[in-house]
Amino acid sequence: MSSVSPLALRPDPAVLLDIDGVLHVGDEPIPGAVEALTELREIASGLRLVTNTTSRSRAEVAARLREIGIDASVDEMLTPAAMAVQYCATHDISNARLYVSDSLREDLTGLNEAGADQAPDVVVLGDIADRFNADTMNEIFRLLMDGARLMALQHNRYWQHGDGLMLDVGAWAAALEYATGRTAITVGKPSNDFYNAALASLGVDANSAIMVGDDIEADVNGAQTCGIQGVLVRTGKYRDGIASDRGFGPAAIIDSIADLPALLRS
Ligand SMILES: [Mg+2]
Repeated sequence: MSSVSPLALRPDPAVLLDIDGVLHVGDEPIPGAVEALTELREIASGLRLVTNTTSRSRAEVAARLREIGIDASVDEMLTPAAMAVQYCATHDISNARLYVSDSLREDLTGLNEAGADQAPDVVVLGDIADRFNADTMNEIFRLLMDGARLMALQHNRYWQHGDGLMLDVGAWAAALEYATGRTAITVGKPSNDFYNAALASLGVDANSAIMVGDDIEADVNGAQTCGIQGVLVRTGKYRDGIASDRGFGPAAIIDSIADLPALLRS
């Protein structure tokens, strides 16, 4: 069953889709997601896959989606890594120390990496999985105390792993923000720059787009802060009460992505 707030969804919108928790969880596609994506490609005025995934490169994300039957191309995917490169270029940041997965490095070749004995201007933090531990966090903390800025590739609190909830990059970044008393630069969702880049790549404005995700903050509230309608799905990391607990009002809440095509046609 779907529930829609008094705010009706915009007609013929461009659709921004979160990936993890919306199209799949782990290696399992969300039931109906493959068919819904096919239908959305026909009825939406444009489509982008906007993900905060920083554990893998765009090419690897697209390849893994195709492996589980979800048709996705690199060209329609927007990730925080591209925004990080753009941010450093436009803010004259020349030396970066990367705390990212090996896979992600191919999307960050536009950054200049600080040498081993060089003080970095910025520490770029992505999903480093098992390397999130006290040793790594203290190493980063010391770089920040020596003057480097922290760039969090995204600021999600947690994500839905195949076998349970996992702390996400935002939670680790928050520990570093707390310790240093300084706010991280965030380049992925929910940053306005990220959403505006997605709109620009489609050539549409916020008034003609909707964003669909399982994260009430990064997906729904982040989009709505930019004037994009946010649709929350009850899959992935969704838990009952999450919207009202945080005081956010999605334009619609649907059981899953499978319900979106019918909602847009209604
Ligand atoms: Mg998600």
